[in-house]
Order: sequence, then structure tokens, then C-alpha cells
Amino acid sequence: MTSEQQTDSDRPPARRLSRRQWLLATVLLLAGSSCVSTQNQVAQLPSRYEIESGDLIIRSDLKIKSDHPLIEELRTIQRDVVQTLALPKPHRPVVIHLFSDEERYSQYMQARHPNLPPRRAFFIGSPTELGVYAHWSPNVNEDLRHEYTHGVLHASLRTVPLWLDEGLAEYYETAPGSPQRMHREHTQRLAVALKNGWRPDLARLEKIEEVAQMGRADYQEAWAWVHYLLHDAPGGQELLVEYCRELRKAEKPPHFYDQVAKSFPDADLRLASYISLSLTDHGRVTWASGEARVGKPEVRPE
Ligand SMILES: [Zn+2]
Repeated sequence: MTSEQQTDSDRPPARRLSRRQWLLATVLLLAGSSCVSTQNQVAQLPSRYEIESGDLIIRSDLKIKSDHPLIEELRTIQRDVVQTLALPKPHRPVVIHLFSDEERYSQYMQARHPNLPPRRAFFIGSPTELGVYAHWSPNVNEDLRHEYTHGVLHASLRTVPLWLDEGLAEYYETAPGSPQRMHREHTQRLAVALKNGWRPDLARLEKIEEVAQMGRADYQEAWAWVHYLLHDAPGGQELLVEYCRELRKAEKPPHFYDQVAKSFPDADLRLASYISLSLTDHGRVTWASGEARVGKPEVRPE
């Protein structure tokens, strides 16, 4: 059986990727096939424990208490995303498949999704499920915040343009205690890029439709646009809300830049000065890392 799926692969096993990939791939699903290998027989989805919390379902190898901070963190993200963008009620649940460790996770992904590259976590949206695949690790909170954000968006909207999908996922992956959801790594790189002559270009960014074409610089620019629109641009949040209203029904995302240009003809320049004067002090990051402030993320199952 084959199935066309949207997949999100964001991180390598041990650290953030230098280049993130969102693939539109045809994946051979071996479940149900008569020729299931021995490896496939042991590569099963976590099913020992299940927690259902509203539109969030977590199936896990390890027991997680229903009041675990991770669950509340994800519920908070869901509420924030829905409220910030005035999204309609989700029409599908998001299922998180949480493996006990990297080995079991990798074994499953290699057996069931052999065409996908090895990554720390995935979001796979298919006609049958909005699924997040991840495993317990020191990065599990960040991984789940990022991938679950994709799930929340796709549960409410018919289509999501790549730049906005990744920009919002990068925005919400930051630790809950991060001041204004600042992303230190992106901010530093954006400041350096500006000094080296780079300039924001939303019209260019939103033309990227395939993850294979999207490099790290594009991810950080997508984050910057989302941050600018939500925190600084007058009427920026309303623009996003209105745009998401169109995405509820649109089969193909309409151009957002045209709508931004009506409010801010010089939007690209405005973002450049937002990066150099508001996010940084002329390129110097002066605020502390949110992760450092709130401490290491909670990683224990219970
Ligand atoms: Zn992503």
C-alpha cells in the first residue's frame, strides 16, 4: 500500500540540523503487507500507554502521568496557536507516537518509512492521521513543541504555506519561559547575515514550496517574519489572522506578501531594522537565552 504524505524532518539525532527538510514523499507503508520482514515485526508503534487530552493523543512506550508538565506545555501551545491566529476548532486530533529511546524510534522509522532521512523527530500529515513521531531525549520538549505546532496548524487549516508552517513551528519550539519567544540562535545568525549584506525578502521566501529548497537561512527568516508580525508590526497579528482565515478553505495558499505590502510597502526594510534594532542592539544579542533562564527541559517520562 502506498500513501502520499507530508513529512517534516527537522533535527539530526544529536543536534539541530544545519538544514531542515520538509518532504512531500510517497512512502511505502509496510503495515498490512504480506511480506513483512523480521525487522518490521519488531518495529511497532508505541502502544503500551495512551493519554488523551482534548485533541491531543499521546501513545508512549513509557508511562507518562496525565499531569506531566510536558502535556500541559503542549496544551498551552495548542491554546496559544489557536488563540493567536483565531483558528477554527480543530477537525482532527494530533497523535504523538513517543518512543522510549532513539534506537527503537530509529528502528521503527527505518522499517516503516525507509525513504525518510534519519532525523530526531517528524511530523507526518496523511489523510488518515496527523502524526508526530519522536523519542525521549534531552531535546524531547523542543522536538514536540515544534512538531506539535505543525499538527495544530494542519488540524485546523486546509493548507499552510511552508514559510508560515516552519516560521510558526520555530516560534513555538522555544522554551515557554523564553522572553517573547526569542530564538537566540536565529537572532544571532540573522544579525550576522544583515551585516554581511543579506536582506529579508518575503516575496522570495513564500515562493519556496518544497523543503528540499529551504535552507537554514530560510527557516530563520521565516521565524523572523512571524516574530515581527506578532510582536512589532502594527496590525501584524490581524494580518496573520485574516490570512489564516483564507487558509481554512484555500486549496493553494494565496500570496501573503501582496497583503503585507498593502499595509507596509517597505516590509522587508522594516524587518531588517527590527532585527538590528529591536531583536538585537545593532547586531549584539543582549538578552539571556530563554532555555538558560528556565533551566534544562523536563525529560523524564514521569
Ligand atoms: Zn518543522
